[in-house]
Amino acid sequence: MSGTPAAGGAPVPGAGPSARGFRWPEGVRAAACFTFDLDAESGILFEHPEAAGWLDVLSHQAYGPRTGVYRLLGVLARQDVRATFFVPGWVAERWPDAVRAIRDDGHEIGHHGYFHEGSRGVTAPELERRLLRGFEALDAVAGVRPIGYRAPMWELSAEMPAILARHGFRYESSLMDSDVPYLLDCGEGSGGSPGSGNASLVELPVQWALDDWEAYAYLPGITGSGWIARPSEMFDRWTDELDSLIAEGGLFVLTNHPFLSGRASRAAALETLITHAKLSQGLWVATCSEIATHVETLELQPYAPKPVELPRSG
Ligand code: ZN
Repeated sequence: MSGTPAAGGAPVPGAGPSARGFRWPEGVRAAACFTFDLDAESGILFEHPEAAGWLDVLSHQAYGPRTGVYRLLGVLARQDVRATFFVPGWVAERWPDAVRAIRDDGHEIGHHGYFHEGSRGVTAPELERRLLRGFEALDAVAGVRPIGYRAPMWELSAEMPAILARHGFRYESSLMDSDVPYLLDCGEGSGGSPGSGNASLVELPVQWALDDWEAYAYLPGITGSGWIARPSEMFDRWTDELDSLIAEGGLFVLTNHPFLSGRASRAAALETLITHAKLSQGLWVATCSEIATHVETLELQPYAPKPVELPRSG
């Protein structure tokens, strides 16, 4: 099933308070988003700037925008599935043809930072500066203004939801505490001017087990243990999760990287998974923005993550 079905389905049987009030559109049991993070060299270089002159390491990452992304676009075109690609601004500037090819094939482009920066210990003004720089790059290269954000490394600091709301984002996809989408309360004053109340964003939850990084990434001395999964193992793992989430009425968000899953055998396994998804009864295969647009119609109660008070030492 693709496209946007009518609203008004039954409540999902999903687990716990995170699913309260949530329902899929009429005729839909569950949904799947196929997402791709076009990180190219950015994530590795942010963590390891010393690798800027290491052609071997750079080539491992450049496989994404030079080779893998085109194979994946072929898979998506053959399967007639629209996906969401999260793109750091710096990557768009460095690999404009790849980003325009994604856009020209009708896929959604989301914001993924400027240089795939981590956010631990970073000030709010710096977080905002990176966000604006990413917007500028995606606009200059592809003429797009994303409505969705995914934090690099899924590192979402407590200040970020309010910043995202102020800049007009409608959804976010980095958190892991639910099987279904929900509304994330963006906090005091995030509605814009003082006193305008809290804004909220749709959260589309992710999970490390639904990411290809741990399974496929290996760069000696930089990332990975040297164990590299077989694509058939990943097909089995992801299919198990997809089938279980369909049974429970959940959202399956798969996160793949073109430099990893763009390789031939992995892309073939992914295509088999997409075929399986398309044949699954009542499964809505959609972009992140299509899912977010549905969630906005539900008038859910926004969820504010509880602030943490650390226990006093001694
Ligand atoms: Zn990334």
